[in-house]
Amino acid sequence: MASSIEIAGLRKNYGSLSVLDDISVSIKAGEFLTLLGPSGSGKTTLLMTIAGFVRPNAGSIKVDGREIVTLAPHKRNIGMVFQNYALFPHMSVGENVAYPLKLRGVGRGERDDRAKRALAAVRMEQYADRRIDQLSGGQRQRVAVARAIVFEPNIILMDEPLSALDKRLREEMQVELKRLHETLGRTIVYVTHDQKEALTMSDRVAVLKSGRIRQIASPRDIYDKPVDRFVADFIGDSG
Ligand code: ADP
Repeated sequence: MASSIEIAGLRKNYGSLSVLDDISVSIKAGEFLTLLGPSGSGKTTLLMTIAGFVRPNAGSIKVDGREIVTLAPHKRNIGMVFQNYALFPHMSVGENVAYPLKLRGVGRGERDDRAKRALAAVRMEQYADRRIDQLSGGQRQRVAVARAIVFEPNIILMDEPLSALDKRLREEMQVELKRLHETLGRTIVYVTHDQKEALTMSDRVAVLKSGRIRQIASPRDIYDKPVDRFVADFIGDSG
């Protein structure tokens, strides 16, 4: 099942620096929304606020109509994929993927079954017994995705998950992630500073600048009808 996310009036300051400046956005259940913007525009902070790792100074985040802004991260039913994978090098692939289930008190047999299924979803089922350091960058990224989906979260957050990969692998993984979104049908909020990636993968793109959403629209509308010079220049920069 996928969840909707309703964000209203979200603010985050670090001292006098306003990092999220009155962010409001409604994300539909099952939507693939990308947060796009230059470095420092607040993308990661917004994602971390949805995940629960950053507490906002003001505003509300509702999932399926329920306020979650004060809820601890592990109670949010949200999967997360980071840029640097954050896998445990001393554990096998299977153990890495099963780890979130262990944290949630799921028994051994069920853990193994569900880890296998998650690995199959990213086409890595034959690698369960390998060590992480025996995998390529692309394979590690797949394992990180398997770990994020293993407890069947309704929402998956991804923070520049492909930025460490070379161009060929990045394009291959873009196709994989799109396929996964279609098969799983979960809500995905995806962060990138890569315009092309945002335009090819998303249902909608939110362009951020200095902690504000400048435009939120379909890739086509962002491309054809940018609301201002900033969006036009940023999108036009994709090369
Ligand atoms: P982006 O993901 O778009 O690159 P971030 O959300 O990482 O942007 O950062 C937005 C701004 O907030 C940056 O200016 C960054 O330096 C600042 N920032 C982020 N986290 C912290 C923190 N924990 N303390 C102070 N400043 C922070």
